[in-house]
Amino acid sequence: MRVAIIGGGVIGCLTAWMLKQRGATPIVLERGNLGSESSWAGAGILCPINPWLYPDAFTHLVDASLAMYPQLQEELEDISGMSIERLENGLLVPLFADDRIDHRQAALDWSKRFGWQVEELDIVAATKDEPALSANIQGALLWPRVSQLRNPRLLQALRKVLEAESIEVREQAEAASLSRQGGKVNGVTLADGSEIQADAVLLAAGSWSGELADQMGFSLPVQPVKGQIVLLKSEPGLLRHIVKHDRAYFVPRADGRILIGASMENVGFRRGNTVEVINELMQAMHNIVPGLEDAEVEQQWMGFRPGSPDGLPFMGPVPGVSGLWVASGHYRNGVALAPITASIMSDWMMGQEPQMDMSAFRLDRDVSNSGVLGYPSK
Ligand SMILES: Cc1cc2nc3c(=O)[nH]c(=O)nc-3n(C[C@H](O)[C@H](O)[C@H](O)COP(=O)(O)OP(=O)(O)OC[C@H]3O[C@@H](n4cnc5c(N)ncnc54)[C@H](O)[C@@H]3O)c2cc1C
Repeated sequence: MRVAIIGGGVIGCLTAWMLKQRGATPIVLERGNLGSESSWAGAGILCPINPWLYPDAFTHLVDASLAMYPQLQEELEDISGMSIERLENGLLVPLFADDRIDHRQAALDWSKRFGWQVEELDIVAATKDEPALSANIQGALLWPRVSQLRNPRLLQALRKVLEAESIEVREQAEAASLSRQGGKVNGVTLADGSEIQADAVLLAAGSWSGELADQMGFSLPVQPVKGQIVLLKSEPGLLRHIVKHDRAYFVPRADGRILIGASMENVGFRRGNTVEVINELMQAMHNIVPGLEDAEVEQQWMGFRPGSPDGLPFMGPVPGVSGLWVASGHYRNGVALAPITASIMSDWMMGQEPQMDMSAFRLDRDVSNSGVLGYPSK
């Protein structure tokens, strides 16, 4: 079975690998360079932001995905010969008296219900554990088992795996439309006019999936949500845990670099970093982790999260279009959800129904009553 995958981000690349493991012949079509959009730009935190706000089906998907990471990491690192720098350094949420939303009780309830180990720290314990924190906190919650990875390394490792597994990858290959025969999708036409024959097509084009779906004649409400990031350079140990607050998060890498992110902007595909957002991130650092203020600013960048109206991904067959599948709209959680997405989608396309209930992620679900988890208004 030949499968054409549109999009060479973490979702497309990992699905290609798993399809190959199941005996299919995937081809990855990437408009630019493999792994250079959202999957490259993200923070790599392997835990959703405020997971207690989501429906239970989402937590089940996250749990299943995170359980796959240790073995996936081992295989990726074995084949690629490089480290993806997955680090289990825990997630700390500082609590302030003037927090706009009090997450404490909901977070504790959710953790207990789903078996996520959590500790409540008073101000003395929290600032002893994380000396860079503001003295104005009232306490903190710490999830010690939360891990993170370094996105560019994950994508480099995936590229090497695809090479090692002889999976065909076409870069600078922009998918323009679908080819059909007898009512069934049988390939992709590229912008240069060439045809790629396939038994099935997977749309995994991240933030561009909504536009492409329009061109292909169906509706998929995925749109870009821009996130800006600032990278600091410091000594290892200045920040010990991932520190996350509603205004910003701070992610310490093994070599002492600290990533500060990320804005949530509904500005279409407008690229570049802005003074306003960089200022907001710096102000958040000043208020939350002032101990980082002497660190050097090394770099800044941005990426487009594939946003969905309810914060949940779209996964499954396109209703009424035989041979066409979607795995997109992973929004803020695409790296955390990539293993389970790739596993479910590759099984499903090969004819094996998912073991999990996928109704919350269907393409034709009702997204009209979406609440706070979806993309921000302008
Ligand atoms: C600032 C930021 C922070 C984030 N932090 C986290 C985090 O901490 N944890 C987490 O789990 N997630 C995080 N995310 C989200 C995560 O990065 C995304 O959900 C995930 O990378 C989406 O992967 P993807 O493969 O769907 O999209 P992408 O990586 O964007 O890949 C889609 C690919 O499709 C290609 N494409 C588009 N159109 C076409 C076409 N016509 N033909 C061929 N190819 C095409 C694009 O060039 C692109 O390479 C973050 C994202 C951002 C931007």
